[in-house]
Amino acid sequence: MKMLKDNFGRTFPYIRLSITDVCNFKCGYCLPDGYQIDKSDNRKFLHLDEIRRLAKALSELGVSKIRLTGGEPTVRKDFFDIVKTIKENSGIKKTVITTNGYHLNKIAHKIKESGLDGINISIDSLNRQTFKKITSHDRLDEILGGIKVLQSFDFKNIKINAVLLKGINDSEDDFNQWSNFVKKNKIDFRYIELMQTGDNLDYFKKYHVPATKFTDYLNKNNWIIQTFGRDAGPAKNYLNPKFEGKFGIIAPYSKDFCKSCNRLRITAKGDLRLCLFGNTGINIRHLMQTDNQIEELKDLILKQLNFKKESHYLELGETGLMKNLSTTGG
Ligand code: SAM
Ligand code: SF4
Repeated sequence: MKMLKDNFGRTFPYIRLSITDVCNFKCGYCLPDGYQIDKSDNRKFLHLDEIRRLAKALSELGVSKIRLTGGEPTVRKDFFDIVKTIKENSGIKKTVITTNGYHLNKIAHKIKESGLDGINISIDSLNRQTFKKITSHDRLDEILGGIKVLQSFDFKNIKINAVLLKGINDSEDDFNQWSNFVKKNKIDFRYIELMQTGDNLDYFKKYHVPATKFTDYLNKNNWIIQTFGRDAGPAKNYLNPKFEGKFGIIAPYSKDFCKSCNRLRITAKGDLRLCLFGNTGINIRHLMQTDNQIEELKDLILKQLNFKKESHYLELGETGLMKNLSTTGG
C-alpha cells in the first residue's frame, strides 16, 4: 500500500479538512470583522461527492483520521451528510470535528447519532462576558448546555480548546476556573498559544503570551507531564490523578513542535496545504471529479509530499499563505 511519508521520515495518518470558510463568530484573533466573501476567488466549497472521493483516496494512502473544520463546519447545511459519507464510504476509521459550539445544545443528539468519533470545542473563557468579548457572541451557556447533553449520551472524546490571550484569559483566576471544570468533567482542556497570521499582526503583538504562563501554573499545582502514549494531536498533556480530565498545551512556537507533525491540511476549496504556515498550496480538486480519478489523486498527493519542509518559520514572522485560520482550518 502506498503510504504518506515525507523526506524527514514523518508519516501522515491525520488530515484536517476544512469544509467551509464561512463562520458566524467574530473571534478577535481570527475573523474580527466576521466572515467576508473573498471576491478574488469565486470557487465554491468542496461538495459532497468530491469529499467522498477525497476521503477514499486518503484512506487508501493510510490516513486513518479526518478532522472536519473550517470556518465553522456545522454551518454547512449538508454537514451531517458529509460525516455520514466519510463514515460509510471511505474507510477512514475516525471522523472528528472542531467547532465553535454554536447551537451545540440543539444539535448534540445529531452529533451523537452521526457516529462522530470526537469533538473539539473552542471555548476561550468560562466567563460569560469575556467569552462574549472575544467571540462577539453571548453563547457560552448554549455551548456548555450542549456539552452536558453530549455527556448525558456518554459521548466519549470531548476536548475544549482556548487561545491563550494576554490580559484576557491568562490570569490565575481563569486557570482556576478551568481547573474546577476539569476536576469534575472527563474532558481535556488545552490552551493554544496565539499564532501570528497574515491578518492579525497588531492583535498578535498586543495579546500574545508564551505558553509558559500556563505551564508554570501547571507545574506549581502538581500537574505531571504525560510522557507516554502521546495522542495523535500536537498537545502536550498533563495529568493529575485527582482530576477527571487532563490539561494540555499547544505551543507552536516551541522548539521541536514540527518534529511530531503528522497532519496535512486541505482547504474548503480543495487546496492541499503541506503546512499551516507554508507557502505551498497546490489545488488537487480537479482529480476529485469522478470515481476513476482516485488513483491519480493519490499519486498527486504523494508527489506533493516531497515538497513538505522540515518546519515552519513562524518564529521569524513568516506566516506563509495563511491570512487567518478560518481559511486553512486551524
Ligand atoms: N470555527 C471552529 C472553531 O473555532 O473551533 C473551527 C475552526 S477554528 C479556525 C479552529 C481553531 O483555531 C479554534 O480552536 C481557534 O480558536 C483556533 N485559532 C484560530 N485562530 C488562531 C490563532 N491566530 N492562533 C491560535 N489559534 C487560533
Ligand atoms: Fe470562527 Fe473558529 Fe475563527 Fe472563531 S476561530 S472566527 S469560531 S473560524
